Amino acid sequence: MATEGPPPVHGIADFVRGYEAEEILLAFRCPRCRSLTATWGLACSRCGARPLEEARLGPTGRIVAGTVVAVPGDELLNEAPYAYVVVALDDGGRISGWIRGVDREADIAPGTLVRFAPSYRPGVQFERIAPAGERPEPP
Ligand SMILES: [Zn+2]
Repeated sequence: MATEGPPPVHGIADFVRGYEAEEILLAFRCPRCRSLTATWGLACSRCGARPLEEARLGPTGRIVAGTVVAVPGDELLNEAPYAYVVVALDDGGRISGWIRGVDREADIAPGTLVRFAPSYRPGVQFERIAPAGERPEPP
């Protein structure tokens, strides 16, 4: 297959560094079916096309699922309680991440508005902006 220019898709290490160090959420868009995914990959999960085009995503989204973690994994040993969440980003795509200081399932109800909160901690960290069904407070 012919390609134009340098390959746009970088490695998973660059992808992770993007949200851990450069404080941006990266996504990939399929050049054929335009499907957008916030999960690193080499080919479109819907139609198999490759290579994928790189895209940047805005920092906000809404929780679609989550669970409170009382017994932390090694990476987040000192962060409990926290919540693992799956977030549907406003720009499209879903990504899994976590939120500090959450010890009630009610605080991560589906629809809760969150914002990407880059930090030195591992993974994709979010912070709560507004409860489900409410609009964010004006800045
Ligand atoms: Zn596709």
